Amino acid sequence: MNNELDQLYAEVIMDHHRDPRNHGCPHNCEHKEEGFNPLCGDKVLIAVTYKETGDSIRKVYFQGEGCSISLASASIMTEEVEGLETKEALERIESFRSLLQGQGSGNLEGDVLALSGVQKFPVRIKCALLPWMTLKRILESEKGKKI
Ligand code: ZN
Repeated sequence: MNNELDQLYAEVIMDHHRDPRNHGCPHNCEHKEEGFNPLCGDKVLIAVTYKETGDSIRKVYFQGEGCSISLASASIMTEEVEGLETKEALERIESFRSLLQGQGSGNLEGDVLALSGVQKFPVRIKCALLPWMTLKRILESEKGKKI
């Protein structure tokens, strides 16, 4: 990865950290989970609202405390999976995990690629993955369930 790209990626992460998207969980949201990363102390609460058909995500929200990587990753994730079918969102989560493990970017594009720089810092991979793994737990617990 060249320096210009590193710089661009750093700016994307800073932007999401300063101006988090979909921040704050709605009170009426029943589908939520907390995630904790003991290595860094990151805490995140992820909440999902589904479309009426029950098989697609309407919106994902987050709130939490933690390092800039974990919070920027949560913010980027909420945009990345908005409107997707549950199945597609789970695939997207797997692609993200592969990206962080240096196995290529798959079908990922846009801001989420900024987090690929994290693969050089193994300790930070858990920070970046935390919100995504928390979302995965929600989606798997709700899979196929009409709401
Ligand atoms: Zn962290």
